[in-house]
Amino acid sequence: MVKITFPDNNVREFPKGINGIDIAKSLSNSLAKEIVAIEVNGETWDATRPINENATIKLFKFQDEEGKHAFWHSSAHIMAEAIEFFYPGVKLAIGPTIDNGFYYDIDLPEGKSISDNDFPKIEKKMLELARQKNQFIRTEKSKTDALSYFKEKDDEYKIELISELEDGTITFYEQGNFTDLCRGPHLPNTSLVKAIKLLKIAGAYWRGDENRKQLTRVYGISFPKQKLLEEYLLLLEEAKKRDHRKIGKELELFTFSKRVGQGLPLWLPKGAMLRERLENFLKKVQKEHGYEPVITPHIGQKELYVTSGHYAKYGEDSFQPIQTPNEGEEFLLKPMNCPHHCEIYKSKPHSYKDLPIRYAEFGTVYRYEQSGELHGLTRVRSFTQDDAHIFCRPDQLKEEFLKVIDIVLYIFKTLDFENFETQISLRDQDDHSKYIGSDDNWEKAESAILEAVKEKGMNAEIEYGEAAFYGPKLDFIVKDAIGRKWQLGTIQVDYNLPERFELEYVGSDDKKHRPVMIHRAPFGSMERFVAVLIEHTAGKFPLWLTPEQAVILPISEKYNDYAKKVSNILNNYD
Ligand SMILES: [Zn+2]
Ligand SMILES: [Zn+2]
Repeated sequence: MVKITFPDNNVREFPKGINGIDIAKSLSNSLAKEIVAIEVNGETWDATRPINENATIKLFKFQDEEGKHAFWHSSAHIMAEAIEFFYPGVKLAIGPTIDNGFYYDIDLPEGKSISDNDFPKIEKKMLELARQKNQFIRTEKSKTDALSYFKEKDDEYKIELISELEDGTITFYEQGNFTDLCRGPHLPNTSLVKAIKLLKIAGAYWRGDENRKQLTRVYGISFPKQKLLEEYLLLLEEAKKRDHRKIGKELELFTFSKRVGQGLPLWLPKGAMLRERLENFLKKVQKEHGYEPVITPHIGQKELYVTSGHYAKYGEDSFQPIQTPNEGEEFLLKPMNCPHHCEIYKSKPHSYKDLPIRYAEFGTVYRYEQSGELHGLTRVRSFTQDDAHIFCRPDQLKEEFLKVIDIVLYIFKTLDFENFETQISLRDQDDHSKYIGSDDNWEKAESAILEAVKEKGMNAEIEYGEAAFYGPKLDFIVKDAIGRKWQLGTIQVDYNLPERFELEYVGSDDKKHRPVMIHRAPFGSMERFVAVLIEHTAGKFPLWLTPEQAVILPISEKYNDYAKKVSNILNNYD
């Protein structure tokens, strides 16, 4: 027998070799029909995989994130099976799940191509295969066997993937006439997939490397019920209408120019006006909350970012250093504003009585995103953060958190984001070794966040082990008018930068102490926020943000002068 612990800590005994489906059946038959995967001691498994040891489990339905993952990944396998049927000799690269659905990167045989016109027949074949109720059968393979299988199939992509895997960790999954190298987990059988839609085709380089072969990426999505697919397609339609790239163009808010460069937004007069109104709104709120404006340059010496650690994070894969006529002198476009603000803090000594200090800047930062990743205003290579850094004493953390939360809530209320969620990222409960900063300070910061969130009456999802190594954080995720979730503001505690920049204040004990730093950006960035605002409002902004708030029409030429006078008054009135 094995002892199975349920999420409510209930423990029951089952025969050794029991699986998720049978555990579900012991609870109710209708539940068992909905189970798509199971978590066993923290790992997601096939719901049909035998459990041979005592385990803590969680059963997943399609509604759960892990459930969707198994569901969509299984659908990717079914799509691959259908594609192999129509395109014998096709080579398959990778087929992961994404936020909404799945894709498979395929290399079609010479002279073959695939287009939207082929979607209906592939979807039909997929449904036919799904209805066969084929099981997903997991087998462990030795590296030699795995390699020889794909050598025979002549699939160089799988061969490359396998050659990088360690022997003893390789598994295959087989369903119907299809076998894939795969870690799983998968559905109990194909028949749970009841509705399928292929969505689009795109080009994708093998392993994201522009120097390697371009493959064909086929996107799709699937559901356990036809109704869910219909709802999703309706949402897609609605999302298309609200696409900020389309509305941004129609309302003349922003544009991009190939000559200026990809991912570098150009704000048009009306967009700039909208953005300025948002900035002024936030500046006013921040002033009331004791923020002081600072202004810093767009570049900094490479050394600055080596000190801050940002060079290690962004250096290799981002914009490369700028050289000067002086040999060895190198500057970087700033990927973050924080290092500059740390140097401002350091420009004079501070006493405990001066804290907290809050430096705010609408600071433009530059990060190199792969061209395939760029998307309207939400993924760009230059963006302006509504950034601020708070330097405070550890005992002031909670109050500062409360104040930042106030600002964020005020923004959400003013801009009509009624639905939002928060997520608190804390340390791994069992292993504290990977975090910088004393245990004592971490405990203070974590309980400060928890208490602040509680005092504000907000419901927060607590994620243990999700904190960055340098501090816990609080994230705000808003739901827009059609229910999509967007990550916006973050409040991040940081013990690392004060250490790296050796920031200090003199305490009441006359000794030197390290301040705590809080990074916060309620909008996230102006680009991202405007994009979300457009998609949320479908471009129907609240009046105070509308670029064109009034139009003055003189009824005859003789009133032109008076019309100008009215226009001047309105323009100078805020
Ligand atoms: Zn797979
Ligand atoms: Zn920062």
